[in-house]
Amino acid sequence: MNVAKLTTGLPRQCFRTAPCRIVRGMVAARSVTTGAAASSTPSGSGDFDFDLFTIGAGSGGVRGSRFAASYGAKVAVCELPFDYVSSERAGGVGGTCVLRGCVPKKLMVYAAQYAEEFKAAEGFGWTLPAGAVQHSWTSFIEAKRKELQRLNNAYKNTLNNAKVTLIEGRGRLVDPHTVEVDGRRYRARNILIAVGGRASRLDIPGAELCITSDEALELQECPKKIAVLGGGYIAVEFSGIFGRLGAEVHTCYRQPLPLRGFDGEVRKFAADQYTAAGLHLHPGVTPVKVVRQDDGRLTLTVQHGGPTGHTEELRDLDQVLMATGRVPNTSGLGLSEAGVALGPRGQVRVDEFCRTAVPSIWAVGDVIDRIQLTPVALMEGMAVAKSIALNQPSQPDYWAVPSAVFSHPEIASVGYTEEAAAEVYGDLDIYSTSFRPMKNTISGSPLRTFMKIVVDAASQKVVGMHMVGAEAAEIMQGFAVAVKLGATKAQMDSVVGIHPSAAEEFVTMRSVTRKVRKPEPAAAS
Ligand code: NDP
Repeated sequence: MNVAKLTTGLPRQCFRTAPCRIVRGMVAARSVTTGAAASSTPSGSGDFDFDLFTIGAGSGGVRGSRFAASYGAKVAVCELPFDYVSSERAGGVGGTCVLRGCVPKKLMVYAAQYAEEFKAAEGFGWTLPAGAVQHSWTSFIEAKRKELQRLNNAYKNTLNNAKVTLIEGRGRLVDPHTVEVDGRRYRARNILIAVGGRASRLDIPGAELCITSDEALELQECPKKIAVLGGGYIAVEFSGIFGRLGAEVHTCYRQPLPLRGFDGEVRKFAADQYTAAGLHLHPGVTPVKVVRQDDGRLTLTVQHGGPTGHTEELRDLDQVLMATGRVPNTSGLGLSEAGVALGPRGQVRVDEFCRTAVPSIWAVGDVIDRIQLTPVALMEGMAVAKSIALNQPSQPDYWAVPSAVFSHPEIASVGYTEEAAAEVYGDLDIYSTSFRPMKNTISGSPLRTFMKIVVDAASQKVVGMHMVGAEAAEIMQGFAVAVKLGATKAQMDSVVGIHPSAAEEFVTMRSVTRKVRKPEPAAAS
């Protein structure tokens, strides 16, 4: 296995910075061969209710189930009843992405973008009567809820049309071939664990007063003043949403810059843009406690630097949003009892075929904690469906998985960061540019755009691309094809730009901005 290639697709902390030890260890430990990934048959018994039983009907579970069914397998999937906010008793067909992640978040991003557009419109000659533009949070939440109900039904129909049996209830493993759902047992040749993850809360006094992203998508009203804890995807995305909708936003994170694991220059540029967009950034702080004030609002105490640093109070907060990571949803599933190995964060350990230490049990998506992205879960689900139902051992390919952060401004990346590429290739040619986008020349927005291409100096292949700016996600999806196919810088240069666009900058950066060269080893004296 090409570990260097694989690492580019592993968790952010791994693939953007350094090779991932966990999966390398897993592969070595399990020594899985192609033949070993064929679907599992227990010795002695062939009496199964299903060829595949999936626990969890989120992105990965639904995709794996319906493709396995389309390949001829008899499939069932169990899922908790629908609710907007997840709990021990509530989930819903569609899972995190559809019901309390990517989809509602993106709808909120759209809602927030109008605020910016209304402001920009004046620069282009529009007059908006004072006070005439109002946002109704209630109407928006109602519209969002309606759309989520529609999607929940659409996902159920998809399963139904694919002839997958949907069982409502909490699934639990009884043994390597048996799942129990609310007291009823089902025997399956293969079991797929696709239960996703949930927001993790910091263990600090007052944590129960804070909300997570689940509740942030379901608030009764838009906060006027909010503190966001964490500097990851969810923290910067919600900061951008609430900021544009008019809230005073304080984003508090423990690193010097947000978005650990992203390209260093991207992090710096993004932080500057967030500030320009009006966020109050509090780098290098650790949350200490949250208390309820007499007037019902909240006070957050943070500590600067290490444990001996001074403390600071952020008062009069309507909400404190904990966006401090997500953990795999593995408790109470009977995994360890069935022999499934778990990692330190509770994640299900799998090999390169997404198969666990128990040959009949597979796992995909956030529960394996490789890359917590919906399209990755879909890819993993498809691979498992092929391995199980077509007996075609299939591995997900994690090289050049693009991703985007829907903050304000947007960020998108594919391939290596400069830091990770330097570790892998040594010598690099870096091309970068920063400019004021045409729209902002008269819109009044202070925001700028940053673009960067990371090139392996020896092969001249483009091994990383990064952008901070409007439409970064839409632009990066196209360039991800080129990176995945191994395009060289010269091939990118041969492409004619679309003018005037921001995207054309990616094919018109002709001069190397910086040459990164591995230091020569010191000569022995
Ligand atoms: P992230 O891992 O991205 O960020 C977690 C943040 O919490 C980091 O800033 C981290 O700091 C901080 N943190 C963790 N523990 C503590 C602690 N004890 N004290 C203080 N700070 C702490 O997680 P998110 O919850 O933002 O997102 C989870 C995953 O969901 C992401 O990794 C991503 O894969 C996925 N996602 C993807 C989106 C997209 O594609 N647009 C959108 C939203 C989520 P530090 O860096 O110091 O560890």
